[in-house]
Amino acid sequence: MSDAPAPPVTGANQRPVLRARVERIFDHCADTRSLFLRMTAGVLPRFVPGMFISVAIPLTGETRIRPYTIASSPEDGEPFEICFNRVPGGLGARWLFERVAGDELTFTGPFGAFTLERAPAAETVLIAEGTAIAPLRPILRRAIASATSHPITLLYAADRREHLLYAVEFEGLAAAHPEFHYEPLIPGGLDSAALYPRLLDEARRRWVTADADRSRHFYICGVGKGVLALRDLLRTAGYERRAVRYEQW
Ligand SMILES: Cc1cc2nc3c(=O)[nH]c(=O)nc-3n(C[C@H](O)[C@H](O)[C@H](O)COP(=O)(O)OP(=O)(O)OC[C@H]3O[C@@H](n4cnc5c(N)ncnc54)[C@H](O)[C@@H]3O)c2cc1C
Repeated sequence: MSDAPAPPVTGANQRPVLRARVERIFDHCADTRSLFLRMTAGVLPRFVPGMFISVAIPLTGETRIRPYTIASSPEDGEPFEICFNRVPGGLGARWLFERVAGDELTFTGPFGAFTLERAPAAETVLIAEGTAIAPLRPILRRAIASATSHPITLLYAADRREHLLYAVEFEGLAAAHPEFHYEPLIPGGLDSAALYPRLLDEARRRWVTADADRSRHFYICGVGKGVLALRDLLRTAGYERRAVRYEQW
């Protein structure tokens, strides 16, 4: 039993509105930040790696709801982490950057279907770029923790090294788990919009034309239409629809 008051619920959809306080801030680099959040009452509801919370962002004249992925694992407990970057003209991201330690965030969730409860019984390939590593970080940790002997590959692209987040952690996981391959990719001299042609080439070369194996499972996360192009490449090549999972921001 808890003597914490029951959380209020929103009107139509009856989702409990939760609150968490910013306990700590970590700057990955100048334009990418993590907030470490602790619930102000009760505990964060159970979640599965890959899920997000829907944060209420009070702007002048409107409250914007924006999803932010829980970048930490369920096993980490609290504070839990969200990670985000500055977006040109993005008011939601700007508001988040203005938060300081002690501020409260109001949100609903966790939600989401881009999740991994247990590693698939097949080779698993995770593909991400920049901050869109957020869901794949807990997904990767769970995949490794529940894996059989199947290989797990993280192909992680960024326009520059500082945008490859959690690199030391991934290198450590790769050193400790021979079945896990960490493959950072910095095309070099390209802007972030040009990452996807390179990711598409890489995916086509390695997982479409190299062999006839279509048993692999894919988790893809990123910003914009490149994510859909990757999805379509793999599904059209013969991978099962449900084995090619994606989340487009
Ligand atoms: C399920 C889900 C989970 C998400 N999790 C995260 C997360 O963990 N961290 C995070 O930073 N964002 C995440 N996003 C994106 C986030 O919700 C916002 O869209 C983003 O912060 C921009 O919101 P905004 O109000 O500042 O700008 P808007 O004006 O609403 O967005 C402007 C444009 O920015 C694009 N965009 C969205 N995200 C990014 C980004 N990270 N970098 C560059 N452009 C972007 C959008 O496609 C849109 O075209 C997630 C989105 C979804 C759908």
